[in-house]
Amino acid sequence: MTHNSTLPHIVILTGAGVSAESGIPTFRGPGGLWEGRDITELATPQAFRAQPHVVQRFYNERRQILLTKQPNAAHAAIARLQKEYSGRITLISQNIDDLHERGGSPEVWHIHGELLKSRCTHCGAVHECRDDLDTASACPACHSTGKLRPHVVWFGETPLFLEELDARTRDATLFAAIGTSGLVYPAANFVHIARSRDARCIEFNLESSDGVFDEFIPGPATQTVTAWVDSLLGHTH
Ligand code: NAD
Repeated sequence: MTHNSTLPHIVILTGAGVSAESGIPTFRGPGGLWEGRDITELATPQAFRAQPHVVQRFYNERRQILLTKQPNAAHAAIARLQKEYSGRITLISQNIDDLHERGGSPEVWHIHGELLKSRCTHCGAVHECRDDLDTASACPACHSTGKLRPHVVWFGETPLFLEELDARTRDATLFAAIGTSGLVYPAANFVHIARSRDARCIEFNLESSDGVFDEFIPGPATQTVTAWVDSLLGHTH
């Protein structure tokens, strides 16, 4: 696809806040516990080693809940921007849900993996996964049993595509962080990379993070992001 290189290269980083209005709780909101456990402790390789059935059950539940949820106006607005903007645009998401895709996004870089996929720890194969996994599930590729895990990046593991996305962020002229607390590294570092290259950095959130951004747009993403996309497309058509 050819892009108009005189327009800003927009890099968008989304977090759990963009899906909050679809009914998927953020980790740090009131839904930060599952059966009384801290989710940030459950989403770890240590927890999976110690209690695989508990971790599988947690993700099975999230997968089934996700299938009942719908994308919201913020997902749709970002998808519209990706499709109608004539300049270059990169969408990075920390979310493991598929609401950007279902909202119409043609390309999403899921740095923390995808809930609707499984990965075999024996052969590495990644497959679509909409059903429950358990400690006896068989890999569709190598048929090993008990080796499938959710294709998600747990705390302490390395996010995906970092090299490519670092390069894209270095090339950005406009960087927008939407609904992310900026507490999870290395994702939280993208804004620093963008700033170091003089990109204009905008934050959309209910509350401002730490003042790294040039502009803070407060409010729910369904409203603020829709208005932003309208104004961007209005100015660049
Ligand atoms: P986070 O839970 O740490 O922060 C969410 C941010 O969104 C907060 O700063 C909050 O103020 C903001 N927010 C909440 N509702 C909002 C709204 N309506 N509009 C705008 N902003 C809103 O999430 P994070 O920064 O994405 O990182 C935490 C980790 O949690 C990530 O690794 C991510 O993979 C994972 N996670 C993913 C999902 C998902 O896939 N939907 C859900 C929960 C957590």
